[in-house]
Amino acid sequence: MMVTSMKLATLCLHGARDGNNTTGALTVPIYQSATFAHPAVGRSTGYDYTRIQNPTRQALEELVTKLENGVDSLAFASGMAAMSALMELFNPNDHIVASNDLYGGSIRLFRNISQKNGLTVEYIDTGNISALKAALRPETRAVFIETPTNPMMKITDIAAVRSVLPPEISLIVDNTFLTPYFQRPLDLGADLVLHSGTKYLSGHNDTLAGFLIVADTRIAEKLREIYKTIGAILSPFDSFLVIRGLKTLPLRLEKSQTNAQILAEWLTKQPKVTTVYYPGLPNHPGREISLRQATGFGAMISFEVDHEETAKNILENIKLILYAESLGGVETLITYPILQTHADVPKEIRESLGLNNRLLRLSVGVEDVEDLIDDLSQALSIN
Ligand SMILES: *Cc1c(COP(=O)(O)O)cnc(C)c1O
Repeated sequence: MMVTSMKLATLCLHGARDGNNTTGALTVPIYQSATFAHPAVGRSTGYDYTRIQNPTRQALEELVTKLENGVDSLAFASGMAAMSALMELFNPNDHIVASNDLYGGSIRLFRNISQKNGLTVEYIDTGNISALKAALRPETRAVFIETPTNPMMKITDIAAVRSVLPPEISLIVDNTFLTPYFQRPLDLGADLVLHSGTKYLSGHNDTLAGFLIVADTRIAEKLREIYKTIGAILSPFDSFLVIRGLKTLPLRLEKSQTNAQILAEWLTKQPKVTTVYYPGLPNHPGREISLRQATGFGAMISFEVDHEETAKNILENIKLILYAESLGGVETLITYPILQTHADVPKEIRESLGLNNRLLRLSVGVEDVEDLIDDLSQALSIN
């Protein structure tokens, strides 16, 4: 079957191909070579030096390009490496409008590095289209969003944002939370997609990776130039691990999402839980848009408890769920955004979002959900 006609779940399994396979090996080998010998003067096998391209990484990139329906994708050493390379597309005095509820590391990069390089980043609620229109300036070059956002799980209508942007303003979507299995931003009009491949794409809490997926060949060429110049590339071994992780992306996400829906509903019934943020709950304000633009709600839940003490008791008494940074792996993790992922976000922004010391974030894994409920139940019962 032609790779391009496969459905996404099949593509995840069969979409990574080694163009040089004469052995019948089922998996793409780890081409652990820094450099490649030339067959003749002025000729190349297609590979010269692994910073520029490597066959294992290329197989992964081609697969990710198809999953997100782009024209090219670049695999980086981490999500933040991808983000740093992305910012090299911009020039001093460019203005970027960003969601006010983003991964903390993205905000840190904007504040500590982009700003020093002369870029201005303005944070707004990108779910509010009139606020977005009002924020645009003649020097605006990009709008950067997450949907759902991290950690408040707010939804932005991707197609509606695109419809109010002139063509010269790029729409960039960090699609880490939903992955192309549930949401394909390029199909909704976005120009660039960013991923922390550390999360669902690799999926086992064992590898760091990042991706940029591009819809336009001109931007792809610029990024390839930046990529080989900066050198924050994904290694052949880590490329292999992400290819392996992607094989089960649909299975993992389906199971995690089923667990997340059950847990979110259970959490709403717990006396010490005051608010549950999950787009799959009937009262979530972004639910309708979610249903329109995505095929799933994902497996990330944030919830607020009655007191700071309750939050601390949960973190110190959970036994199965792990109190750890990160998300998107097979193991369920709980984080305390105010002290971990969002510690560097300015206090004013945190407070305006409701990101307080009673907020916890769950990345729901693929365990038996009853064990997860039992664990949270015993941790919540501690006074
Ligand atoms: C983790 C994360 C990043 C950063 O990725 P790393 O792989 O940790 O560098 C960026 N965006 C989101 C939404 C993330 O969750």
